[in-house]
Amino acid sequence: MRVTCPNCGERDRREFYVKGAALARPAADAALDEWHDHVNLRDNPAGEVHELWFHEMGCGAWIDVCRNVVSHEVISTAWVSDLGGTR
Ligand SMILES: [Zn+2]
Repeated sequence: MRVTCPNCGERDRREFYVKGAALARPAADAALDEWHDHVNLRDNPAGEVHELWFHEMGCGAWIDVCRNVVSHEVISTAWVSDLGGTR
């Protein structure tokens, strides 16, 4: 699988560390139930998901990778910092 780092270009996926799903965090003062859901309850969608990837053997950038978890097609990549803290 090939992943395009916004800084380095197309690279082999083995250069990256996958942190996991890129989820919107609850507000710091959110209710305990909302934090419990965020930390412990996850959907397992078959289709497009956003994930946080770290270019460990490259430039060290954190990127948001949108990919189809069924076909493994990488749909888009973006700097996490460009998402404005939404994930
Ligand atoms: Zn990179």
